[in-house]
Amino acid sequence: MLAQGRYAPSPTGYLHLGNVRTALVAYLKARASGSDFILRIEDLDSARSRPEFVAANIAELRYLGLDWDEGPDVSGPHGPYLQSERQAHYLEALETLRAAGKLFECYLSRKDLRDLASAPHAQMPAYGQAERRLNEKLKAQKQLERKQPSLRFRVDMPQVAVQDAFKGMQHFQVSDFIVRRADGEWAYQLAVVVDDAKMNIQEVVRGEDLLESTAAQVLLYQALAYPVPAFFHVPLLYDETGERMSKRKGSLTISSLKEKGVSSERIVGFLAYSLGLIDKLEALTLDEVLRVFDPQKLRQTSFGVGLEHLKFLGAL
Ligand code: GLU
Repeated sequence: MLAQGRYAPSPTGYLHLGNVRTALVAYLKARASGSDFILRIEDLDSARSRPEFVAANIAELRYLGLDWDEGPDVSGPHGPYLQSERQAHYLEALETLRAAGKLFECYLSRKDLRDLASAPHAQMPAYGQAERRLNEKLKAQKQLERKQPSLRFRVDMPQVAVQDAFKGMQHFQVSDFIVRRADGEWAYQLAVVVDDAKMNIQEVVRGEDLLESTAAQVLLYQALAYPVPAFFHVPLLYDETGERMSKRKGSLTISSLKEKGVSSERIVGFLAYSLGLIDKLEALTLDEVLRVFDPQKLRQTSFGVGLEHLKFLGAL
C-alpha cells in the first residue's frame, strides 16, 4: 500500500492564505514522495462547522490545482471522509481506552477549572493533582445535579517527547485531556488520532500551532497501540499587521482572491515564495512548484505578509 499524506481542514470558514500554505506543503510532500493524498473534513464542531464551507474549501483547494486520491468528493477505501460520519470509529477507540483504565469522568466546568488555576487568565489551565482532587470532591454533588461529565484521558507520565521531522525533537508537559466533551461531542485529539491511524497516514503535515496537541496525541497512539506517524509541523503565516492569520478574523481568503480575479498562479507563486521554495516572487503553477520542491529549502521560521506581497497578489 502506498504511504498516505493528508490535509484536514475544519469547515468553519473560508480557507485563508495560511491554511492553504500548510495544505500546499502537505500536498507537495506527499506528491514528491509518490504518496497518496487524502482530504479529510474535520467537521466535529457542530456549532461552527457548516456544509457550505465544506464545498467552499474543496473549491478553494481545487482552484489552486490541488487534487487528492481520496476525499469527500472522491471515493476510496478509507472513507467516509467527513468526521461527522466516522463516529463508530471513535466509539470503538473510546471503548478500548476505557477497558484499559485510561479514562475518567470529569465533572469540572470551565469555571471550576478557572477558579482553581493559579494564573486566573490562563486559557486552558493544566489539569493536575489539584483538579483531580476537586473533581472527586464535587462528583457526588454534580451527579445529584445531573451534570454530564466529560471523559478525560489520564496522563500518568506527563513528559512527552515529539519527534518532528522538520523541527527536531520537542518536549512537552501534558496533563489529563478531554477525549469526549460533556455534551457528547468528540474532542479533536481523539478523532484526529483515530482517523490518521485508520486512514493509514504515514506523515502528518500541519501548522506548528498544533505541535503541543501532538504531544497529547502521541499518548493516544501509544494507548491505542497504533503506529505513530511521522510529524512535520509547518511555521505559520502572519498578516500585514503582524498577527497570525485566522478564520475568525477574516484574514485574506482564497475565495475572496478568486472573486477579485487573482489567478491561482499568483497565489501559488506567493505561497511558494513565502515558504522559501523560490527566491523571487513570481506566478507559478502547482506543477512548476512541484518540480522545484525540495523540503530542505523550506523556511524554518514564520513569514509575514507585507504590502509588496499584497500588491503582487492584487489584493490591495
Ligand atoms: N482540522 C484542523 C484545522 O483545520 C487541523 C488538524 C490537523 O491537521 O491535525 O486546523
